Amino acid sequence: MNESFLDLAYLVAAALFILGIKGLTRPRTAVRGNMLSASGMLLAVVVTLLDKNVLSYEWIIGGIALGGILGAILATRIQMTAIPQMVALLNGFGGGASLAVAVANYFQGGFNTETGIITLIAIGTTVLIGAVTLTGSMVAFGKLQEIISGQSIGFPGMKLVNAVLLATAIYAIVMVIINPTDASWVYVLIATASILGLFLVLPIGGADMPVVIALLNSYSGIAAASAGFIMGNTVLIVTGSLVGASGIILTRIMCVAMNRSLFNVLFGVMAEGGETIDADEVYEGKVKSTSPDEVAMMLETARRVVIIPGYGMAMAQAQHAVREMANAIEEMGANVEYAIHPVAGRMPGHMNVLLAEAEVPYDKLVEMDRINPTFDQTDIAIVIGANDVTNPMAREDKGSPIYGMPILNVDKAKTVIVVKRSLSPGFAGLPNPLFAMDNTLMLFGDGKQAVVEITQALKEAR
Ligand code: NDP
Repeated sequence: MNESFLDLAYLVAAALFILGIKGLTRPRTAVRGNMLSASGMLLAVVVTLLDKNVLSYEWIIGGIALGGILGAILATRIQMTAIPQMVALLNGFGGGASLAVAVANYFQGGFNTETGIITLIAIGTTVLIGAVTLTGSMVAFGKLQEIISGQSIGFPGMKLVNAVLLATAIYAIVMVIINPTDASWVYVLIATASILGLFLVLPIGGADMPVVIALLNSYSGIAAASAGFIMGNTVLIVTGSLVGASGIILTRIMCVAMNRSLFNVLFGVMAEGGETIDADEVYEGKVKSTSPDEVAMMLETARRVVIIPGYGMAMAQAQHAVREMANAIEEMGANVEYAIHPVAGRMPGHMNVLLAEAEVPYDKLVEMDRINPTFDQTDIAIVIGANDVTNPMAREDKGSPIYGMPILNVDKAKTVIVVKRSLSPGFAGLPNPLFAMDNTLMLFGDGKQAVVEITQALKEAR
């Protein structure tokens, strides 16, 4: 194939990836963004195949058919709550694919003294990162799928063992470069990197798992970019770099939103316990409960209402009911918006996905930084199954384990209605002083049931 045509096609594919990622940053343009990136990938694959003068397409078509069918089945059957483990699997496959490319390249004639140093470095790096991503992602999948314990698993001296494994892997890469004909170092590298991947993820507790998945996603991108250097394929270098960079950015966003440093996540350092907070002390005699009818009465006179969804909304599958309630409130003349915290629920974008499924207009979903200054002009904030992301201790209590985590300043609203089943804590296991505040009323019950009853009461009042 003409070299200039190939470069032009790769350039177009790279532009489509970048436009696709840009589209993915907004719910309204996300589907189009996904399609743009997918067409970029299709273009890159077709052009690469044509360029390589493939003699027989049987295996390639077989692979596409098998992978396509498996992918389609998985994607349609997967429960929304199981997306994190699906992403973990896909990251692992990405790392595994790069590992396979590197090893195949090495054994298919790569290992001779003529092989350029850049290719050898790329083979070594791809094997290292690809194997770590593969085995690390499998552990992440196992933990999230509860095949293995979600708790930290380790043994004394594990960090030292990891350091030795890493040093051995790097030594093996150096030996591959110095003596490319000795394949035994490639085996050493595969083995040490695979064990390192297991040992790096096993000690990480369930709570930090989503951050690790974002990081492994980044690793899979770096492995792919490195594989691009082995094959001299520009578009693979570009795609891999994009995945690597976006994975790191997501890792950082999640660390900030959960108030964890990447160091603490990777080395299993838990947040300082601070003083133990006694739930009775926080709640005793201060919690006031309400009823759906009473909430409906208050909503009749409200001008501005903000709904704060959390993990409980997902558990109750209340998103459609919430949308109907919002419609009923709007019909009464109030303005309704949704406050979206970056780590509400159990995966990034969890609330956006659920509310999009219920066809809530995208412009009603307002991110934390934009909605926070508006809470003091909000008549009623309705918290549905959210807890930690509204906990004022994160803002005010220096001794609290969640101190410093950015929260939705729900407590600044004139009236706060909290819909949940009990005073049980959320993910962080802490009491929430919001529930005991003067301006807060608790509506105890299942999220969906409570919201349906509020909507009924609103309709009856009309
Ligand atoms: P929380 O986990 O803090 O609280 C959820 C609340 O939902 C619980 O207190 C529970 O109370 C309530 N609930 C459960 N089931 C129902 C139901 N059927 N109906 C009504 N309420 C229900 O959720 P948030 O969304 O506020 O915070 C998310 C937490 O998860 C944060 O701590 C975050 O760091 C963490 N996290 C987030 C990740 C992400 O990527 N989004 C990943 C990993 C962790 P009750 O039992 O009384 O009903």
